[in-house]
Amino acid sequence: MNIYLDCPVFQDEKLSLSFLEGVIWNGKPICPRCNEIERIAPIGGNSTRLGVFKCYACRKPFTAKVGTVFDGSHLGLTVWFKALSIVYSSENKPNYKFIKGVLGVSHKSAYSILKRIDEIKGDGWKKVVGSNAKCCSKASLELAMFDVAAKRVEWFG
Ligand SMILES: [Zn+2]
Repeated sequence: MNIYLDCPVFQDEKLSLSFLEGVIWNGKPICPRCNEIERIAPIGGNSTRLGVFKCYACRKPFTAKVGTVFDGSHLGLTVWFKALSIVYSSENKPNYKFIKGVLGVSHKSAYSILKRIDEIKGDGWKKVVGSNAKCCSKASLELAMFDVAAKRVEWFG
C-alpha cells in the first residue's frame, strides 16, 4: 500500500480540528449537552486546549470531539485522521504493527486506535476500497467522517 498522507489536514492540529468542527457542527458550534446555539463563545488563553467553547446556557465547556471516537483520547487529531485514512483505504484491516510504524505511536496506542475505529466502522468503507485502495488521502478521511458523525449521534444523541 502506498501511503500518501501529505494533505495539510494530516499535519496541522488546528486544521484538523477545523475540519472536524465542519463535520460535526457545519461551522456553527452547538452545545452537545443542551443544544444551545446562541449563547456560546470560544474560550481563549494560553492554558486552554485548542477548540474549547463555553456554553453560557448550561455553563459547561466543550469541543467538537465530545461524543466522538476522539473523545478522551490523548492522541492528536492528526494522528487519528491518518489512522482513519489508512483504515478506510485498506482492503484488509491493517494490523497494529503497521499502524504503529506509520504513525510513530506506541504499541498500546496503535492497538487502541484500531479497536476504536473498529467500533465506528460501518459498511461504507467497503465501497471505496476498489477505487481507492492504493492511496490514503483526504478522500478516505472524508468517508470515515460519515461513520464518525453517525456513531456520535448513536452514542451521544
Ligand atoms: Zn449547554
